[in-house]
Amino acid sequence: MTIIEDIKEMQGLAEATRQKGLKIALVPTMGYFHQGHLSLMEAGRERADLLVVSLFVNPLQFGPGEDLEKYPRDGERDARLAEGVGVDILFNPRGQDLYPDDFQTYVSVENVTRNLCGASRPGHFRGVATVVCKLFHIVKPHLALFGQKDYQQLVTIRKMVRDLNLDLEVIGLPTVREADGLAMSSRNVYLSQAERISARALSQALEEARDLVRKGERRAEAVLGRIRERIQRLPETAIDYAGICDPETLEEVAVIAGQDLLALAVYIGKTRLIDNCLLEE
Ligand code: AMP
Repeated sequence: MTIIEDIKEMQGLAEATRQKGLKIALVPTMGYFHQGHLSLMEAGRERADLLVVSLFVNPLQFGPGEDLEKYPRDGERDARLAEGVGVDILFNPRGQDLYPDDFQTYVSVENVTRNLCGASRPGHFRGVATVVCKLFHIVKPHLALFGQKDYQQLVTIRKMVRDLNLDLEVIGLPTVREADGLAMSSRNVYLSQAERISARALSQALEEARDLVRKGERRAEAVLGRIRERIQRLPETAIDYAGICDPETLEEVAVIAGQDLLALAVYIGKTRLIDNCLLEE
């Protein structure tokens, strides 16, 4: 595995790879790898000749007072794990190169970023879309892989790719979970032992909601009420949002019809965790 920091070097390698008729896959990440990241890399490995993983903690997608400074980092461990699943290139660009002084061009995807995390984290998806668009121009992938754990991010990237006619395929893959259901996240490391137990409430609430819908409940408010009640019962938890939305427009629905998205963001102590699931018909 080669580690590349230089943008021009990455672009040159991408261009040469394309000229040989080989296929490039990109997995964009902020590092501190867990099995969720590795599952995307493994899927990319199967589908492409050159597997590139980008590792960049993108300041543009963090709001004031969020955890940019303390976001967990361990470059050596990440390099070891990436190499272990057959990554060819770990692309680790320098912040100053991606965002030179006087940087002033952004990608803003509109409607699908208004709701859910877009409402709680103003500017977040502008930061995500901008960095991912830049990474696409640097790595020139034929396909890019994202996790459904960040469902709104996946929808946002798909819209950007469609609206800007970017010539690549976006692949979304299922959320990888701990044995007790907690969605894997780099931020889980922030949780104390007691908080780690409370954190199970997210996936359990999703499971309960799916169950209610399976049994015939169609009123979004009734399902959300049960979820809120279940989560608020626990110590140290505060719901940021709980919403049921159309899985493509991400607009809230009052009546559940088909595979709507149930998405949650919950503070466990100071740590904000997200999770989601599709509700069956
Ligand atoms: P991050 O490093 O948190 O920006 O995540 C990089 C990629 O990994 C994104 O496409 C995430 O959606 C994906 N990802 C994060 N956690 C998980 C998970 N538990 N299961 C599957 N994919 C994940």
